[in-house]
Amino acid sequence: MKKTADVVIIGGGCMGASTAYHLSRRGVTDVVLLEREPMLGMGSTGRNAGGVRHQFSSEANVKLSIESIRSFENFAEEVGYEIDFHQEGYLFLLSQEENLNAFRRNIEMQRRLGVEVEMLAATDAQRLAPGLEVEGLIGATFCNRDGIADPNGVTVGFAKAAQEAGVEICRDTEVTAIKTDGGRVVAVETTRGAMRTRTVVNAAGPHARQIGKMVGLDIPVHPYRRHIFITEPLEESLRLKSHIMVIDFETTFYFHREGAGILFGMSDPEEPTSFNTTVSWELLEKITPVAARRLPRLLESGIAHAWAGLYEITPDAMPIIGPAPDLDGFLMINGFSGHGFQHSPAAGRILADIITQGRPVDIDIAPFAFDRFSRADIAGEATMV
Ligand SMILES: Cc1cc2nc3c(=O)[nH]c(=O)nc-3n(C[C@H](O)[C@H](O)[C@H](O)COP(=O)(O)OP(=O)(O)OC[C@H]3O[C@@H](n4cnc5c(N)ncnc54)[C@H](O)[C@@H]3O)c2cc1C
Repeated sequence: MKKTADVVIIGGGCMGASTAYHLSRRGVTDVVLLEREPMLGMGSTGRNAGGVRHQFSSEANVKLSIESIRSFENFAEEVGYEIDFHQEGYLFLLSQEENLNAFRRNIEMQRRLGVEVEMLAATDAQRLAPGLEVEGLIGATFCNRDGIADPNGVTVGFAKAAQEAGVEICRDTEVTAIKTDGGRVVAVETTRGAMRTRTVVNAAGPHARQIGKMVGLDIPVHPYRRHIFITEPLEESLRLKSHIMVIDFETTFYFHREGAGILFGMSDPEEPTSFNTTVSWELLEKITPVAARRLPRLLESGIAHAWAGLYEITPDAMPIIGPAPDLDGFLMINGFSGHGFQHSPAAGRILADIITQGRPVDIDIAPFAFDRFSRADIAGEATMV
């Protein structure tokens, strides 16, 4: 491991890998990425559902999606790695008037930004997703350029391309302390020795707050357990016909085809903040009545596989991308609140621009600024599931 580097990135999930890649594309290659696990992508990145959508309520998030989805569409040519991107659409199901109206307003904003999203009747939703039960639904929204991609492919693709350009990746290396002097970062200490640097990127996912504590900064990112279940293969006639992602917005129950089975999940409003990632089978009891109402065929098959991972949630469900207010050389790419995988291309690009030129020229970064939490008027994201 080197003893000095221009930039040290803490965390080898999709955010750390994307930042390393975009720095290397700007000619910044004296970069070391430190990951405490034996492989990259073993944190939240390796446990997510792979969902990618334009349909957010905040304009800033839609802009992150527009750039990121373009990147996913061209990933093989630009980054040189296959990411299995299926653009078969995202369907949000709505059963409350208030939410229908909010999604109508979202569509206006999304279309103004050039994203084609449609408002559908419940019966149209059923046509798009055969097997779906629509009782109680009053509408749905659909964007056919949304989809699912492979989080491991994206992370490894970014990391390999960065490595080929000269970035060093150190696995099995935990950052234990960050040294500061005169109001700026000067070094990191790790389980494999110290490294001098003037720029540290916190890309530690749900552990962002622990990294912040090393420099006396309270980063409001809180870990929450979320589950994913995958069924056994369904018999041919019951298999879903497409990879469309369906989200029952009010319950947060979601599903998509996964091989010959179905991947599904639902958040539990009673889940406390914690680093617990053991599977709670009791959650299935809460999901079963919702599944029985929306996708009865789900009950026809046993569960083949389940896992839990951590969302990294901020108070307004918006990410923090940018510098710490009173400490030179400490930057954050944290708190993506359950939709970080899909925003990793744009977020890494924006942070690389901040590091190399002070700020990006093409996007307003105020919605991602750390100091927004001290203001009373933060709007936030309303479609976290
Ligand atoms: C069940 C589930 C489903 C999800 N579904 C989706 C989805 O459909 N679409 C979507 O876009 N997002 C989804 N997400 C969210 C997404 O996975 C995260 O937003 C994203 O992976 C965050 O990436 P990251 O690189 O910031 O964090 P991580 O992938 O957690 O990476 C952080 C890394 O930092 C390392 N680290 C921590 N502390 C240290 C240290 N001291 N020293 C060295 N290394 C350290 C960790 O080991 C880890 O590898 C889901 C998440 C979960 C849990």
